Amino acid sequence: MSLKRYPALFVSHGAPTLALETNDTTEFLRRLGGELGKPRAILCVSAHWNTAVPTVSAAEKPETIHDFGGFPEELYRIRYPAQGAPALAASVSALLSEAAIECETSQGRGLDHGAWVPLRLLYPGAEVPVAQLSVQPRLDPAHHFRIGRALTPLLEEGVLLLATGSVTHNLSKISTGGSPPEWARQFDEWLGRKILEGSKEELLEYRRHAPYAQMAHPTDEHLLPLFVALGAGSGKEGVRPGRSLHRDWTLGSLSMAAYSFGPAE
Ligand code: ZN
Repeated sequence: MSLKRYPALFVSHGAPTLALETNDTTEFLRRLGGELGKPRAILCVSAHWNTAVPTVSAAEKPETIHDFGGFPEELYRIRYPAQGAPALAASVSALLSEAAIECETSQGRGLDHGAWVPLRLLYPGAEVPVAQLSVQPRLDPAHHFRIGRALTPLLEEGVLLLATGSVTHNLSKISTGGSPPEWARQFDEWLGRKILEGSKEELLEYRRHAPYAQMAHPTDEHLLPLFVALGAGSGKEGVRPGRSLHRDWTLGSLSMAAYSFGPAE
């Protein structure tokens, strides 16, 4: 049996309330799930799981984590009942070890909202098993790129890598709406251009090169999943240009852009 090759995706997950909305981004994610078809399993790299050492979840039945406060009650009632993917977690651990990257396994970690909000739109039936992988906010984009590169073989094995974060993420600057401010638009445009050019060096050094980097990301964690997807889609031959899948904005300055890396399916 030949398994379909899946790309590595990066999606911006916005606010948890995306789960309750119908808008261009929810439509995009629903459509994308249908276009991709059903992978054997999904490895979700979420900005909301932060650890010192890369950690993969091997939970058999990952619980739905409501890791946010002050939102409407109905959000807390949502469950995403996907099975876990312990075999995928074991493959992740083995591939990272082969690449001399330390990796820990968690038996109990469930799915945080960075994972289940987009997953529920991509695969509403929760029929695809999911494992999660953490990011390391104290380590740089190059570390996350190396993790992704080590995981490239998974894309050949029917696994979809879903990295979820945000292209811009400054929660002190969000508003109820309106057009995006200049700093957010310039950062979003720069990042999109460099992804489409496959400019690995500039992307990995985005804090030095991108306009308004500090404003767009006071901390790194919401952009770090992107570098895992970039690395996974690049393989050994060097960086391939990514593809733009979606552009939109929410809460004024939160970019909802999404990108795809690696072999076109
Ligand atoms: Zn988030």
